[in-house]
Amino acid sequence: MFQSIRWRIAIPYVILFMLVMTGLSLYISDFIYHTELNELESKLTSEARLLGGTLEQRIIGEFPSHGLDVLAKEWSDDLGVRVTLIAADGEVVGESNEDRATMDNHLQRPEIQQALLEGMGRSIRFSRTLGADMLYIALPVVKDAEVLGYVRLAIALDQIEAKVSSLRKTILTGTLIATILAILLGVVVAEYTTRPLRDLAKTTQHISLDAHSDQLIPTTVDEVGQLAGAINAMRVQLRAQYGRLDTERKKLVAVLKQLSDGVMIVDEMGKVQMVNPAAQRMFSVKEGDALDRSLPSVVRHHQIIDLWRKCLESGENQVTSLEVPGKHQIFQVEAIPLVHALPGSVLLVVNDLTHLRRLETVRRDFISNISHELRTPLASLKALAETLQESALDDPPAARRFLNRIEAEVDALSLMVQELLELSRIESGKVPLELKPVPPQDLLTSAIERLQLQSENSGIQVQLHCPADLPLVLADPPRIEQVVVNLLHNAIKFTPAGGNITLSAESSEDIILFSIKDTGSGISAEDLPRIFERFFKADRARSGGGTGLGLAISRHLVEAHGGRIWAESLEGHGSTFYFTIPVVA
Ligand code: ADP
Repeated sequence: MFQSIRWRIAIPYVILFMLVMTGLSLYISDFIYHTELNELESKLTSEARLLGGTLEQRIIGEFPSHGLDVLAKEWSDDLGVRVTLIAADGEVVGESNEDRATMDNHLQRPEIQQALLEGMGRSIRFSRTLGADMLYIALPVVKDAEVLGYVRLAIALDQIEAKVSSLRKTILTGTLIATILAILLGVVVAEYTTRPLRDLAKTTQHISLDAHSDQLIPTTVDEVGQLAGAINAMRVQLRAQYGRLDTERKKLVAVLKQLSDGVMIVDEMGKVQMVNPAAQRMFSVKEGDALDRSLPSVVRHHQIIDLWRKCLESGENQVTSLEVPGKHQIFQVEAIPLVHALPGSVLLVVNDLTHLRRLETVRRDFISNISHELRTPLASLKALAETLQESALDDPPAARRFLNRIEAEVDALSLMVQELLELSRIESGKVPLELKPVPPQDLLTSAIERLQLQSENSGIQVQLHCPADLPLVLADPPRIEQVVVNLLHNAIKFTPAGGNITLSAESSEDIILFSIKDTGSGISAEDLPRIFERFFKADRARSGGGTGLGLAISRHLVEAHGGRIWAESLEGHGSTFYFTIPVVA
């Protein structure tokens, strides 16, 4: 109950009110009691004085030792008080209300003693005879400086007490009514005072920090209004700050999302707190499955876990490289302690070096391949020239044969140089394409015709599947023909006699998908991703014909047309080469 301001205001207020009222009523009743008592006292004193004077005049000679009961009774009737006349030795000589014979010596009564000493005595005592508190007033009767006796007047205080108690009752009733009113008033005042606060709390709860919400808390002119104003101002500030933070966060999320490097944050307990999409791809894990999970259960590479531990222990950057077994992937992982930003946490940056390493291999292979390609014809040219020089010149038919072979080698060399030049021109975008709408069928048939003799000689059947109503493609016909010739030439080369080659074209959305399918030797899964590299030959001995540049040239030509080229193959069962060319818009 004390948690509500309403009751915190109302309850102390009511308690205070009750305390004040009780204190006040006690004080008033006490005050009235004493005022009444004083009044009674002075009244009795003056009456006693009067009676004392009368008695003094009446007494001639000795103070009578008895017989004053009648007088006491008379006075008592007149004044409505009990009258006791006492001789100087304390003996009761006149009594209005009691049987004097039963009364003892009164000299030791406090009021008599006080009257003797101070000239006036006063006492309040409980009278067993009357069963009530009595006020006694005693005065000495003095004649010629000699105390002749005492006049004592007594009155029961129950009258005053009755009066005070009725007054107290009235005050208490008043207090009770006032308290009830005070409680009601307290509750109403507290309710009225706290209502704006409650309204404020309710409105504040419903107003969101949403950047698009302009809703403000209504303000009033009182203190609560000032508070509402302050909350509004604070809200505007908070919203601006929140907006800034949100923008920063979005920027960060965008950067992390686009980053090709994998990024993770691991807290001191080893739990993953953040993982960007690149890292999710690298470790084949979904964000929901990685967050708040332990690092070992997410990355499953002991080198990375060791790296994280080392970084945590040393507080310094750590780097390691690792190869993912069975996936031919190479990662470089750097662990950076986030000493200031997130103490205890470690940032893991994972760099996928697979592509870079592959490029290195390609470059290395390219150099070794080109050297190899040049060395073989050059060596045979040298051998032929030497033989000619040494002896064959004297043998004209042999010399001619040698010269023919030299010519063939030079032709092969110049073909290779020509292809290389062509490739480099295409790669550097120096070959301008003359794009025009062409029926896909034309591109395939012209290539088939060009290689018809070759396929027939090899004993291979070539088939064409191409609907006549395919949309036109936007292509440079000689270039795409060159691609088809390259692919078909390969198919013939790698398909044994009796095999089949099928060329087809089909429409799919805004492209035409061309395919050249053979039933030849196929390509191993290991070589398949590399066949479009320059100089790549599956035949490692490089004994067969061809330069290994055909597919590289084809790839560049297709890509220059905005298409894509790829191959599917099952070793020993044949291969299918696909490429796409966009249709005329
Ligand atoms: P090349 O001029 O040596 O044929 P390519 O670039 O055209 O060079 O081909 C590269 C390599 O791809 C070939 O040496 C061969 O190993 C492989 N290849 C290409 N087409 C086929 C195919 N249809 N069947 C099997 N292997 C193929």
